[in-house]
Amino acid sequence: MTLHIHDTLRRGKVTFTPLDPSRVTLYVCGPTVYSYAHIGNARPAVVFDVLFRLLRRAYGGEEVIYARNITDVDDKIAAAAEREGVDISVIASRFAEVYEADMAALGVLKPTLEPRATAHVPQMIEMIVTLVKRGHAYVAEGDVLFDVSSFPAYGALSGRSLEDMQAGARVDVVAHKRSPADFTLWKPSKPGEPAWASPWGPGRPGWHIECSAMIEAELGFPVDIHGGGHDLIFPHHENEIAQGVCAADGEAGYARYWMHNGFLTLEAEKMSKSLGNVLLVHDLLKQVPGEVVRWALLSAHYRAPLDWTGELLEQSRRTLDRIYDALRFLSELDPAETSASLDAEPHEGVLQALNDDLNTPLALSYFGNYVKDVRLNVQNSSIARENVAEAIAKIVVTGRLLGVLQTDVETWFKGNADADLSARVEALIASRAEARKAKDWAEADRIRGELGALNVEVLDGPGGAASWRLKA
Ligand code: AMP
Ligand code: ZN
Repeated sequence: MTLHIHDTLRRGKVTFTPLDPSRVTLYVCGPTVYSYAHIGNARPAVVFDVLFRLLRRAYGGEEVIYARNITDVDDKIAAAAEREGVDISVIASRFAEVYEADMAALGVLKPTLEPRATAHVPQMIEMIVTLVKRGHAYVAEGDVLFDVSSFPAYGALSGRSLEDMQAGARVDVVAHKRSPADFTLWKPSKPGEPAWASPWGPGRPGWHIECSAMIEAELGFPVDIHGGGHDLIFPHHENEIAQGVCAADGEAGYARYWMHNGFLTLEAEKMSKSLGNVLLVHDLLKQVPGEVVRWALLSAHYRAPLDWTGELLEQSRRTLDRIYDALRFLSELDPAETSASLDAEPHEGVLQALNDDLNTPLALSYFGNYVKDVRLNVQNSSIARENVAEAIAKIVVTGRLLGVLQTDVETWFKGNADADLSARVEALIASRAEARKAKDWAEADRIRGELGALNVEVLDGPGGAASWRLKA
């Protein structure tokens, strides 16, 4: 099945064909690790994780090389390090670790490579030396700047013309630049800032050159797919192309396809630290399982804006509860089938939706409906008992493609309830079923109240079966 993706550069949906199907490369701009990731930062990680899973399925697990960098040198990291009186590496390592744990909780697979900017400074310097030598960069007041007029295709990705960029620039900011659009490749470090020796004196790289140097070092030009949030199209990715193309020999190109995710807003507001409305993944994970957050993030198409609300989270929780409950119902019919065959094919509609420019809202809706149908069809005997195992396998394999259903069913519902509490809850649920059978509604209500006091929510399933979970 062919994958179609919306390419930012070609401004439309195109067929994806890798340069070399035995080595498919994907690069996504990763986090700047100075603090906890917010829910908006999680969106590209989750979206491109779905792409990674889809590519691995199509080309093989070993054949897809996904690099997501870690920006571990930056003004904000330096500021945090200064506040604590520690080296920048202390802050960067701490928050890189938090980021990885948070993303793992969201079902995000570890990328093949996670290059760090500080480990690639020699490659950055080498690339800048080449750019200067070839007449694409110049030194002014200690900075090394890229000369955008030396690259006629500058502006192609973002659709901006050089004239517009020049007309909009403020003169005072650009005094030492030949053109206001010229950008920094290297700058001298201020006292106290991290510094590396270079042909232009001790200094540090600009942000854009980091990604280009890491791509060249880790994947090579051109990368098949380059991704990130749409805020990165200009200037970051525009600048990456300019440097990368001008530094490399020949016409290899920089990235063959460009994909950008839309922005996430919080209750219709832009997330902003100064306004105090920032939702951290780390905090969210204390309230709900990571899969619920993941489901909510995938509920909108990746290119569209996504408005994050409490209602969206609650709805995602209910949908996943329904799916896990169906899985439990089916597993109980076929208790022998504890490990579903992972060779099963995923649901056709889900796969088709994902192959159509990662249409996750459609994929999630197909998936939810499929699980509902399987349950109904087993209940009304249009699926024979002996085919239940097959259906479970298809559900699990499809879930895996989407990065959900990675939790054991019992754990999903009971969370961290201990054995004593579990036994007590099961006994109460059994008594409640008895009371209901005897039409003793008052007793049934009393027991429900008792369960509520234990912070237990009972989920009544069809046919009188009940499951439960601890409320957040
Ligand atoms: P940063 O750590 O700020 O460099 O951001 C890491 C990634 O998160 C980048 O790809 C950004 O484009 C993306 N990003 C930041 N804020 C949001 C948001 N509100 N919605 C979606 N993506 C975002
Ligand atoms: Zn980048």
